[in-house]
Amino acid sequence: MKKMGIIFGSLIFVLAAVLAVFAVAGVQKSKSLQQEMKRMDRQINKMQKTSESLEEELEALKEAKRKETAGAGQEAGTAEDAQAADTREASDQKSNGRKVAIDPGHQGPGADTGGTEPLGPGSEEMKDKFASGTQGVYTGVPEYELTLAVSMQLQEELKNRGYEVIMTREDNDTAVSNVERAQIAAKNGAQILVRIHADGSGDNSANGAMTMIPSAENPYVGQLHEESSRLGEEIINAYCQATGIKNNGVRLYDNMTGINWSTVPVTILEMGFMTNQSDDERMQDPEMQKNMVQGIADGIDAYFAAAQ
Ligand SMILES: [Zn+2]
Repeated sequence: MKKMGIIFGSLIFVLAAVLAVFAVAGVQKSKSLQQEMKRMDRQINKMQKTSESLEEELEALKEAKRKETAGAGQEAGTAEDAQAADTREASDQKSNGRKVAIDPGHQGPGADTGGTEPLGPGSEEMKDKFASGTQGVYTGVPEYELTLAVSMQLQEELKNRGYEVIMTREDNDTAVSNVERAQIAAKNGAQILVRIHADGSGDNSANGAMTMIPSAENPYVGQLHEESSRLGEEIINAYCQATGIKNNGVRLYDNMTGINWSTVPVTILEMGFMTNQSDDERMQDPEMQKNMVQGIADGIDAYFAAAQ
């Protein structure tokens, strides 16, 4: 019995010792954790202070910059003027100050077409308000689709070059008469009117591009002949150079309502013959269309460059 007591007693002792060791370790551990947390608190405090002082520094820099801008503004007017000039520069940084009207020829069969209108201002000769245009004999694509596709790409290209672009139509379902097309250009302050068409002929071998302009004897727009001639020439030359399409030159037409109602230099570009296999297929090639657009835009650039 005595032996059992000794064994039991030592077991209790060992157990107590082990518990004591755990307890001490626990207290120490919690103490070191508390210390660690305090240290982190101090660090967070320090970081907050650093961030505050950085913010103060930034504010001081901003204030200095404001004073500098105001000073610069006073030299050339007021600080507000300087700021307004900055805004203008940012909003139309790429504007070249030129406004161009692009007229994609014809419209789709869904458009509401019909009626007649005078051939020119004051004319008693009436012509159809709308014409349906030709069609790709080989590709099957109607002229109104081709003219819109090229014109939309041209609009983008001209905007990239800094032009403001007025479009007479941007879909195939809007009916815009020939007189209205000229009036849209005038009403919106366009400096030139470039009309985009493609040709057709009963002779499938007829091919190439041309521009059409009013003659000096045109009773309605004879005064626009000279500038229109320059416009037509620049466009046909640049267009044929960019595309390799045959250059049929600038030709005089006084029977086109959309030309006769124009108030600004005007030309029709006939991009090629949709009744000629080579022209028709090339005009539907996306890569060729890029060249066509570049060529027209180059011609417009050249027209304005010479006018300066
Ligand atoms: Zn046409």
